[in-house]
Amino acid sequence: MATQQPKASGAELIARTLHHLGVTVLFGIVGIPVVEIADACQAQGIRFIAFRNEQSAAYAASVHGYLSGQPGVCLTVGGPGVVHGLAGLLNAQLNCWPLVLLAGSCDTDQIDMGAFQELDQVQVCRPYCKYAARPASVDKIPFVIEKALRTAAAGRPGPTYVDLPADYIQYAIQNPAAIVPLLPTQTTLAPKAQADPQAIIQAASWLRQARRPLIVIGKGAAYARAENELRQWVDKLGVPFLPTPMGKGVLPDEHDLCVSPARSKALKEADVVVLVGARLNWILHYGASPRWSNNVKYIHLDVHYEELGNNGALTLALAGDLRLTLQQLLTHATTTNLDPAYRQGLQAKAKANMAKTLTLGQQGDDHAILNYHTAFTVIKNILPRQGIVYVSEGANTMDIGRSYFDVQHPRQRLDAGTGATMGVGMGYAIAAQLYYPDHRVVSIVGDSAFGFSAMELETAIRSQLPLLIIVINNNGIYHGLDDQDYESSRHNQTLPATSLSPETRYDMIAQACGGKGWLVRNRIELAKALQESLAQPKETCVINVLIAPGGRKKLSFGWMNAAQKPKL
Ligand code: ADP
Ligand code: MG
Repeated sequence: MATQQPKASGAELIARTLHHLGVTVLFGIVGIPVVEIADACQAQGIRFIAFRNEQSAAYAASVHGYLSGQPGVCLTVGGPGVVHGLAGLLNAQLNCWPLVLLAGSCDTDQIDMGAFQELDQVQVCRPYCKYAARPASVDKIPFVIEKALRTAAAGRPGPTYVDLPADYIQYAIQNPAAIVPLLPTQTTLAPKAQADPQAIIQAASWLRQARRPLIVIGKGAAYARAENELRQWVDKLGVPFLPTPMGKGVLPDEHDLCVSPARSKALKEADVVVLVGARLNWILHYGASPRWSNNVKYIHLDVHYEELGNNGALTLALAGDLRLTLQQLLTHATTTNLDPAYRQGLQAKAKANMAKTLTLGQQGDDHAILNYHTAFTVIKNILPRQGIVYVSEGANTMDIGRSYFDVQHPRQRLDAGTGATMGVGMGYAIAAQLYYPDHRVVSIVGDSAFGFSAMELETAIRSQLPLLIIVINNNGIYHGLDDQDYESSRHNQTLPATSLSPETRYDMIAQACGGKGWLVRNRIELAKALQESLAQPKETCVINVLIAPGGRKKLSFGWMNAAQKPKL
């Protein structure tokens, strides 16, 4: 009796291509027509993390790309699934992280007929992607997936999109042996280039003459894994450095030359600034006065040519890979003409600001209602100094928290990033806990930010990821309302747009999903909950920290600090 040839499907071709290209984890949500893809990936040994909303799945995949240096891959259904996933594409584009979105789409012979979840997804995704395509035929699937992965990681990293019609996924491959020759030849991912040697000489000369140099370390340096070269260069030059929010940890915050606590003074005084994987966008006040000196000059290291010279600042462009460029710089610069008063001034200011923070954290007695400072001080004192990966989001929670939690290792602090995207925290925490199985991921998040994706707690618990989530709960966006004001405003139907229900039991969501939860109101309760959750390294924990609603101090500069415009 003739034996029947085993058949394979388009789904298997997709899974084998991903496996062949080194993909080990897939983030997503299944439904028609992509269930078979997830099944086939699992059969290949690829882990599938099943989320509750595609937004979080795409955020998780993008942060996996940032942490691992290999594109994260997300799988969604078409139509609404892709629209939810767009949030992740935009966020990855803004942060320059490699992400590949794979989505199912309607059968090719039903296009324009009002098919199930029909959407022109290639068109919809294209503005947020470096590459977006539907394979021309089933046998072109490996070609397009390889191109999407390679493009996501090449040059400035970013998102790509691959459209997978239902009839391709279900296509019956009569001769599975024919799959092997279709699998792509592996090319070198993300080729690297050095900077122009003339520009390196010029940079060394600018630095030799600088009196008040400053090195700004961005998340591009973290992504480029430039920590060793940067460490050597900083130590050799003895120049103060300032990390951006996600550049924290590339060099340890406790390094002598770190001037984070004197940030405003450093920006204002610096005469030559080296930007290492950081852009002159809103996070760095566009590189313009009044936050920066009028005469500041920038030496900008970046892989993306078009970024260099942006925002009109006087810039020496070092286009190339950060590690290679820093290696080039290391062979040149040996001395600087640094003004000792500048360095001492920054160190004194940093010391004074740290003392101020310490005082703020001691306010009130042990039973007093908490605020940001007292809560963060308790958390800081109890968390171990090693083995923690921080995730942070929420406006005030993130801004104020940044100065409390020192980071000593690269890529161990994630926050709302370039997009100031709230709701990323759960996806980021899940991806980070997968990437760092021997660390504890601690998310310190505002109540509003947490609410965007709180249902992903169930994802974390089901996936056995022992996140520790600390919700700083002030009953709202920014400042919140206290119970009495809430009740009277609600009675009069005048609730401010920023208010959320007082004392929402976020801790009980964790309990409802099979995790642990605590509600705490003061230092003693917070300390106890922290100790108990740290003692349970396998449990997903939520500590709901009630803090006093209220304002925050007025900034001495406008928040965005847009460049001063001359009057027309
Ligand atoms: P931050 O928010 O920390 O200031 P940004 O996201 O603004 O950082 O900037 C990161 C920059 O790093 C981007 O402009 C990106 O092009 C660049 N970058 C990423 N990877 C590399 C690399 N390997 N070499 C050089 N530059 C890189
Ligand atoms: Mg809040």
